[in-house]
Amino acid sequence: MRPYGIDAVADYVSHEIDTTSVESWRTWYKSPIWKAIKRHRLIQEPNCRLCAQEGRTVIATHVAHIEPHRGKWSLFASYENTQSLCARHHKWQRRH
Ligand SMILES: [Zn+2]
Repeated sequence: MRPYGIDAVADYVSHEIDTTSVESWRTWYKSPIWKAIKRHRLIQEPNCRLCAQEGRTVIATHVAHIEPHRGKWSLFASYENTQSLCARHHKWQRRH
């Protein structure tokens, strides 16, 4: 199957990277750096960012990356690339 557009190619490539490197970066979420990022983010930004954009105040329970890191450590470990999310938005984001 040939992807027909640039977006389709990008999706195809990123999907391939995701599936091949998932084992190696899964452990990153157990690293002290990630735990520190998560703790600081939830203190600095206690409410879900996406709920706030919809005009609602919901306590955040998850920290997620804004730009998917796709196995790239510099994106994964970037505090500025993280956001606080509620459980609903965290689930929603993972599907995209
Ligand atoms: Zn939310």
